[in-house]
Amino acid sequence: MNKRYLAFAGNPNSGKTTLFNTITGSHQHVGNYPGITVDRKEGSTILDNNKIDIVDLPGCYSLTAYTQEELVSRQVLVEERPDLVVNVVDATKLERHLYLTIQFLELGVPVMLALNMMDDVRSKGIQINIEQLQQDLGCPAVGTVARTGAGKEELLRTAVDFAAKRNGVWQPLTISYGPDVDPVLECLSGMLEEAQLLQEKYPPRWVALKYIEGDDSIIEQGRTLAPELSRQMEARIQTLREHCLKTLNTFPEALIADYRYGFITALLKKSVVVTQPQSARLDLTDNIDSVLTHRVAGPALMLALLYTMFHVTFTLGEYPMELTHRFFALLADGVTAILPDGMLQSLIVSGVIDGVGGVLGFVPLIMIMFIIIAFLEDSGYMARMAYMLDKIFRSFGLHGSSVMPFIISGGIAGGCAVPGVMAARTLRSPKEKLATILTAPFMPCGAKIPVFLLLIGAFFTEHRAAMMFSITLGAWVMALLVARILRSTIIRGESTPFVMELPPYRLPTLQGVLIHMWERTWEYIKKAGTVVLAISVLIWAGMTFPGLDAEQEEQFVAARFQLEQSLNSTTTPAQQEQILAALKELEHSHSLATLKHSAAGRLGQMLEPLTSLAGFNWRTNIALIGGVAAKEVIVSTLGTAYSLGETDVDDSSSLMTRIQKDPDWNRATAISAIIFVLLYAPCFVTIVVMARESSWGWAMFALVFNTTLAFILACAAYQGALLVL
Ligand code: GDP
Ligand code: MG
Repeated sequence: MNKRYLAFAGNPNSGKTTLFNTITGSHQHVGNYPGITVDRKEGSTILDNNKIDIVDLPGCYSLTAYTQEELVSRQVLVEERPDLVVNVVDATKLERHLYLTIQFLELGVPVMLALNMMDDVRSKGIQINIEQLQQDLGCPAVGTVARTGAGKEELLRTAVDFAAKRNGVWQPLTISYGPDVDPVLECLSGMLEEAQLLQEKYPPRWVALKYIEGDDSIIEQGRTLAPELSRQMEARIQTLREHCLKTLNTFPEALIADYRYGFITALLKKSVVVTQPQSARLDLTDNIDSVLTHRVAGPALMLALLYTMFHVTFTLGEYPMELTHRFFALLADGVTAILPDGMLQSLIVSGVIDGVGGVLGFVPLIMIMFIIIAFLEDSGYMARMAYMLDKIFRSFGLHGSSVMPFIISGGIAGGCAVPGVMAARTLRSPKEKLATILTAPFMPCGAKIPVFLLLIGAFFTEHRAAMMFSITLGAWVMALLVARILRSTIIRGESTPFVMELPPYRLPTLQGVLIHMWERTWEYIKKAGTVVLAISVLIWAGMTFPGLDAEQEEQFVAARFQLEQSLNSTTTPAQQEQILAALKELEHSHSLATLKHSAAGRLGQMLEPLTSLAGFNWRTNIALIGGVAAKEVIVSTLGTAYSLGETDVDDSSSLMTRIQKDPDWNRATAISAIIFVLLYAPCFVTIVVMARESSWGWAMFALVFNTTLAFILACAAYQGALLVL
């Protein structure tokens, strides 16, 4: 005979004891849990060839050790490891009772649902799509009426089958807790895993959650077993606490509860229909959601919002951006005046100021965009966007959980593919995860944005918001199409169910929005001052060395000497002016020749025959190659390239103007460059992270595949645009 050990658990008054009694009949005894006077009821029954032992756990609302009942329930689960938890819920109050269910799922213990009080469900006119609920929760559910014993056979049979199927294996569910809590959870889980703290009993993310929720029992154990680690974790959580208070005016544990309820809200939206509304009063969130996530109005509003966001960004950003550009131009002039001509001046003016300055010049626009994004995120609307996109994603072979990685990667503008690719960890199915990792880098991340802003500003001044909007939509369409192709060829496989957390709406605080905006902006500035600066200097060197060989250099020196001689011997102002102009022209051809002769210049020219198909000249080629290191480098390299071999002889104008004046650049080139930059190889750091999250093979695949795809589309767009424009 097989032995199975089940634990009945649930909120008080869910009918747990009634169910336990009808199942175990007279085979039960009552004792106390060791140490405390909470009833421990045990019983048993026989089904076919199975002896089923059952323990009736004390009623509890959560698995955080806030009360003795909760502590005891948890201890039974981790110490005695029952084969299965039968979670008894009052099916007329699912939105409250599923809160505990979520926590069993997060802990990972095998669990199934007894949807009790089905008689009340029917009489109240509630319809529960049990099939859908099982699918979304990933566990079986059986309807019961404990008072009459209806459904108890089916319950036991399902329990025995599922216990056999899971065979005691724990599979924790990962829920997202939003952009503030998730990274901390990730970080703490990593620390716990590395230190092997409490690992034999609990999943690392779960322990991290309990630490954040302030679970005394877990923290106590952590402090005893690993005092130093525990101290570090508590410090990290303290920072998170202060951050949440400052930005969202709430505690992390409240946020966590919000997201759990958000998960339940979304779950019930799909599987429960209330035909006779129980109360006429819907809460505020439901009211707002009935408009914002409406089948038709929802997506339309979403698109309108996106467009408005870009429009506002450009309108408000115009003046401050003008100012920063002027500031860097003045700075360059100042340095040119102070430092003597030569290598150092060239390094600082062309390499650093025109390079990094070009990237920093976009800070005002980026700040405005980030304010809007912070508002969307803090208000809870961002989660709704993901919710609405779920269906579309599914039909392209992705998963609802792929939406967040896309958004984090810059799907609404201004993200980064590095955390985006890492966010794909929440996907359980390896195939959907891989498809997400491979397509998330197509999003318009914060580093590609300045390239777009530059080109749109130079060539599409009239339609800036519309262009940004089209680029964003284009990125999504391409990502989805590529995902579809990958999922029906090299990574074919089933799609898995999904529930997106829908936390309640809250009015963001000004301070909160500003802090979130500043965190992102500071990341951008920091990167410009470190990585981009370093790469800019390297690329400047590549564009400066090797200098012209002695013979060519001498020719320039001789030519200059001759001009200076004749300048001294002429007297008429008109002639003098002519010679001065010739001198400048000479300087210009000198620096242009040096640039063309440099290592980078030669590489750029070598590729020109191929890249001219897409309209890219050798300067653009250098910038695009540099962009693989970090996408911001595209702007900084163009800045340096146009600064070193100045095409316009006498000016210190902005890169935007320089590009506008270059005959090699026009609208067709701009479109082609935008498409190429949007889609080509992920930057270096992203490639490394992709390799870590999947494999080097797939990372290299992305490098080659994306670049090829980007180039083909850029060529097509360029040739097409030449015909039309
Ligand atoms: P526990 O706190 O979870 O152990 O819940 P109990 O078993 O004590 O039940 C709480 C109340 O719900 C009792 O009054 C039961 O009679 C009632 N109850 C239990 N199951 C059902 C059911 O399926 N339908 C209805 N209508 N009432 C039930
Ligand atoms: Mg009871």
